[in-house]
Amino acid sequence: SEEMAQEVCSLKARLEEKEKEIVDLKNKLAQLEKSHASVLELQDKVTPLSPLTAKPALSNEDIMRYSRQLLLPELGVKGQLNLSGASVLIVGCGGLGCPLAQYLAAAGVGRLGLLDYDEVELSNLHRQVLHGEENQGQAKALSAARAVKRLNSTVECIPYHLQLSPENALQLIQQYPQATSVTSDCSDNVPTRYLVNDACVLSGKPLVSASALRMEGQLTVYNYCGGPCYRCLYPLPPPPETVTNCSDGGVLGVVPGIMGCFQALEVLKIASGQGSSCGQQLLMFDAQGFRFRPIRLRPKQADCAVCGESPSVTQLIDYEAFCGSAATDKVGHYRSLSQRSYAIMKSMEYDCHFPNLHKCGIKMISWSFKIILHNPLSKRLKDR
Ligand SMILES: [Zn+2]
Repeated sequence: SEEMAQEVCSLKARLEEKEKEIVDLKNKLAQLEKSHASVLELQDKVTPLSPLTAKPALSNEDIMRYSRQLLLPELGVKGQLNLSGASVLIVGCGGLGCPLAQYLAAAGVGRLGLLDYDEVELSNLHRQVLHGEENQGQAKALSAARAVKRLNSTVECIPYHLQLSPENALQLIQQYPQATSVTSDCSDNVPTRYLVNDACVLSGKPLVSASALRMEGQLTVYNYCGGPCYRCLYPLPPPPETVTNCSDGGVLGVVPGIMGCFQALEVLKIASGQGSSCGQQLLMFDAQGFRFRPIRLRPKQADCAVCGESPSVTQLIDYEAFCGSAATDKVGHYRSLSQRSYAIMKSMEYDCHFPNLHKCGIKMISWSFKIILHNPLSKRLKDR
């Protein structure tokens, strides 16, 4: 019986050991499951998203995190709650998309869709500041999403490693269905600009659009509060040979940085419910002379092909064929400033918001001359 008692003892000890092992395994499993849930899954196609709802109230952590902006009467608790229910699709995670995503995440936007078909390269790093040296070769969308998550883990990030196309654009943009949702165009080619514009008009979404090249930048909010869309201003694409992009023309990294921050500002104003005042104006930024020029744009056009009274574009078309150029920067296309300026000058009423144009001095006036003189069509413009 002494033998039996010894056996019971040893069995009890083994059982205890096994129980301890089970507890350890359970802990390990829970930890793995937790880390798996926070892993960002790179999407290579558009899959349905669960609906996003605004928080009913701010948590103590939210109040701590956002305290300095909650103090603003323009935002307040209501604006912050609106941001928590807002979803923003960012088309392009490059020089504009990086600072845009960064500030939207920092400010507490509920959901960020980060779309880019490209991978990080060394030559991107001077302006695409969410990516680091160790991210070279990685999908930009994933690299950007990871950086954004480090900044604010409460923001839901969906990285899309795909090219926006007529086949996926509507489904994708309609995935961001909240009343306060916004699409941001940070792309660098003309076909994508028309594609994003048409998809936003067909989905009834505002489009916060910016561009940057060399030492110049531009910003507009299209299709917003009855204002014009991109096609109202540019009914026809420019001849492909007149278009330059950052890989041909160059760009100082901080210039898209500044324009991306302006995009973030306008997206946050729209998504929080304050509203943007950029709906019918174009902001031009001349970094060399450090000048900002707000230019009043012509209103929404009744004969616009997509947002007009009897639109001919009622579904997405082949934009590469329409523009005669490819929708990637590998071949590079950007409507050069002089070309754009001609279209703008043709279509706009000048409305300089500076208090006194004369006091702005010769430099500002000479800048507008520069636009005219650089324009191959300036003679036609002068003749009008
Ligand atoms: Zn239009």
